[in-house]
Amino acid sequence: IIQVSYGYGLFTGGLGLHYGAERIGATVLPTSIGNTKRQIELMQDLRVTAIACTPSYLLHMGEVAEKMGVSIKNDTLLRKAIVGAEPWSEQMRSRIRESLGVDAYDIYGTSELSGPLFCECECKQGFHVWSDLIYPEILDPDSQEPLPPGERGELVVTMLQKDALPIIRYRTGDITAIKDDPCPCGRTHPRLERLSGRVDDMLIIRGINVFPSQIEHALLGIPEVAEHFMIEVDRKGALDDMLVRVELAREAFSDKISDLMRIRQHVEKVLKSSLNVQVSVELTEPGTLPRFEGKAKRVIDKRLI
Ligand SMILES: [Zn+2]
Repeated sequence: IIQVSYGYGLFTGGLGLHYGAERIGATVLPTSIGNTKRQIELMQDLRVTAIACTPSYLLHMGEVAEKMGVSIKNDTLLRKAIVGAEPWSEQMRSRIRESLGVDAYDIYGTSELSGPLFCECECKQGFHVWSDLIYPEILDPDSQEPLPPGERGELVVTMLQKDALPIIRYRTGDITAIKDDPCPCGRTHPRLERLSGRVDDMLIIRGINVFPSQIEHALLGIPEVAEHFMIEVDRKGALDDMLVRVELAREAFSDKISDLMRIRQHVEKVLKSSLNVQVSVELTEPGTLPRFEGKAKRVIDKRLI
């Protein structure tokens, strides 16, 4: 029984997962996004075992469930999740497993091509590409020339079996690499590495390339803070200035200024060493930063205005 908590409608995640799940004989609960309390009640009442949604929404559901006195790990049958539509890290996968008891698989797709396209197998070592349907290429973002397997660049997709709308070398804007070594699961199709960002969410801060996924990755290694964050980029004089707002973990919340100062300095130090650029950090109370039910929009770039 799979709960599809991706948006239905023009975003193809909802209907794409819906039809795919029906094809393998699963029962589909089409909850779409929003009304999180009802989603959790339905998950319990209808004994849902799998879910499809964004990783940030899955963690948000865990928080809402906790407030309702429901533990997703102990009080529901949810065990598998197909999560995607935004970049996420191995640390987030561990956090989902530990806090919710859910085994999460990454999925990739674009509405322009055909909705959901590639998914991880049980080995979780990259997305399997169905080569009879899709011809993937990786282009060097600067020269636009194709790159060999193992090198990262922009994913460009040609659909091989479209009936009415030919799509040839569609530029996804997503950054990945092709892996051509065999997967331990035995499937022989090529694979794609998990996404490391988009060509267009890459921030250039004082000449240094920064991906929001790097910040997520760094924050998940710090137990005093939660996984929710916002990035604000502005210009102080001629220099780019990056502020990262981070939520404190509930356990680390304190009235003592000295505790908060220490955590803030620690987070700044970790981010500086992981991004190679100076970052200001602002800590916020647990539960105060925006939660995203669709794709997370974590960057406010005031430099563009
Ligand atoms: Zn495999």
